[in-house]
Amino acid sequence: MKKIAIIGGGASGLMAALFAARSGANVTIYEHNNSVGKKILASGNGRCNIINTTASYEDYAGADPQFVTYTLKQLSFGYFEKLCHSIGLLLDIKDDGRCYPLSNEAKSVLIALKSAVSEAGVKIITESKVTAITKNDSLFNVQTDQDKQSYNNVLIATGSEAAPQLGATADGYIFARAFGHEILPTYPSLVQLHLDSKNHPKMAGVKTTAEVTLFIENKSNTKVTGDILFAAYGISGLAILDISQRASHALLHKQRVSISLNLLPRYDRGELVSLIEKLFASVPNHDVHTALCGLIPAKIATYLLEDAALALTTTVSALNPKEVKKLAHLIGEWKFEVTDTHGFKHAEVSGGGVSTAQVNNKTMESKLVEGLYFAGEVLDIVGRRGGYNFNFAWASGMIAGKEIAK
Ligand SMILES: Cc1cc2nc3c(=O)[nH]c(=O)nc-3n(C[C@H](O)[C@H](O)[C@H](O)COP(=O)(O)OP(=O)(O)OC[C@H]3O[C@@H](n4cnc5c(N)ncnc54)[C@H](O)[C@@H]3O)c2cc1C
Repeated sequence: MKKIAIIGGGASGLMAALFAARSGANVTIYEHNNSVGKKILASGNGRCNIINTTASYEDYAGADPQFVTYTLKQLSFGYFEKLCHSIGLLLDIKDDGRCYPLSNEAKSVLIALKSAVSEAGVKIITESKVTAITKNDSLFNVQTDQDKQSYNNVLIATGSEAAPQLGATADGYIFARAFGHEILPTYPSLVQLHLDSKNHPKMAGVKTTAEVTLFIENKSNTKVTGDILFAAYGISGLAILDISQRASHALLHKQRVSISLNLLPRYDRGELVSLIEKLFASVPNHDVHTALCGLIPAKIATYLLEDAALALTTTVSALNPKEVKKLAHLIGEWKFEVTDTHGFKHAEVSGGGVSTAQVNNKTMESKLVEGLYFAGEVLDIVGRRGGYNFNFAWASGMIAGKEIAK
């Protein structure tokens, strides 16, 4: 019977353990937290967006996003749903392809997975931090802060540095590098952004819907419409998370990053000018701030007028057509420089990681070291928001689990 060590009891490690044990291997999971699956519990605001029915390589970034094509094919949605049923987990499938546990509680996912791996005979050692992995002849030695054990094969499923408060470490990269693997520089993703503006802290807490355009080196890169929320450090909201992977990757490469907010995306510029003209014509004696409050949130109106160099108390009838156009322009294209991300502590995931060029995507085995496997976020693959990150973690974990036991 093959002796297998899985380093990391997260999504990919648990899935791999299930398949390896069901294939007849003697499986041990090492987890340095006091329990497995902490990110599963925290995911999707406690609901766990467990998978997406429509995942393809286009939903991922990395040096070679096509790496995921074979992996995702092996875990079709139909197969995943049956697997979930078989371990007692029912799913709620949304129209846009996102799936959640029917219970609407992330805990259900972990309870089902934990009981499935325990039934399959997997040994879980918690509060045990792996500090080194070495290979002598055909055996791997797994060193923890408590002891050293030998295994036939090892799976590195340590995830990324995102959310260290949940136990995330960069250890997987250290282990991989020690075996000669290339690590692509890591960067926070699905993360809030820091802005260079004196006014965003004064708008902290203001939420609205906007079309956000990301500019990299002054070139329009991505457009997303959704919620934005100003914060003391900069800006957050779902639309910001959705552009954050590209913004963060560009910042990593020292590129200039900026965003432009269209606060009323349903109108084109001409329509916006006539809308403002009509609004102002109906309240000619109002001050411009009071009048703008009929269009956009009051606090935003305050600082937008400051950027337009117009006093809040200016009477609407005193504005000339050029000033009206300037207001329409700012409402449609309010620009901010992005200086940084809010960091790994606040990120859901990380870009970069173990180069996929040195890993066989049909088996998840290292191309450099026989018997060494990788799965999940430790690899240089990062998904969009919407269940895609778990999708890859489950799929790569399943393949690694089947193969590692052979
Ligand atoms: C707040 C939050 C919400 C999220 N929501 C979603 C969502 O709804 N949908 C989605 O698809 N994705 C979501 N994600 C992303 C998703 O959780 C990850 O992509 C996924 O968990 C990656 O699985 P993994 O197995 O690669 O890593 P992880 O799940 O992070 O597991 C790695 C494990 O390894 C352990 N470990 C690390 N180093 C060591 C060591 N040296 N020794 C022993 N153990 C070690 C860690 O403690 C951890 O338990 C969310 C992430 C966060 C932080």
